[in-house]
Amino acid sequence: MSGAACSICGGSHDRIGALVMPAPDAWLRLSDEPRHGGFCDDDLCKTPGGDGFVFAILEVPLIGGPQPVVEFGVWAALGEDDFRRYYETYNDRDQSKLGPLSGALANEIEGFAGAFGLKATVLPQDRGERPLRRLEPSDHPLAVAQREGMPMGKVLEILHSGVEA
Ligand SMILES: [Zn+2]
Repeated sequence: MSGAACSICGGSHDRIGALVMPAPDAWLRLSDEPRHGGFCDDDLCKTPGGDGFVFAILEVPLIGGPQPVVEFGVWAALGEDDFRRYYETYNDRDQSKLGPLSGALANEIEGFAGAFGLKATVLPQDRGERPLRRLEPSDHPLAVAQREGMPMGKVLEILHSGVEA
């Protein structure tokens, strides 16, 4: 694929950056005034209503692309206790001590209709690394993609659909 012209835009995509969702959908839906009392940065988000979210990396094997894996930067909704534990240990270098946390996907993802709400495990990492997430096995196309990989053509479609890359 490297050096070959993209079939959609004619450019080349030698390196596919993470496809990043800037915030949980629940936060993006709030306008400025209702956001008061909550917060959202690159890694942590809490709505004024008390719903907590963490940013995590979903790795999907890439088939026929310039690199082995494409990363989705997505948000996971955590339960109240887990979010508090995560928040309190956020600056710890050994945050993997929390163990796996149960969450749900808090973004709809371009090209994967119905991804919102998929159950997933969040795996806190050490030394400030972004946590990883694993979708629970299901027939949803995103869970299948994480298990079996996604073709480069599908990635290109997503890249050209307006998602920030
Ligand atoms: Zn292109």
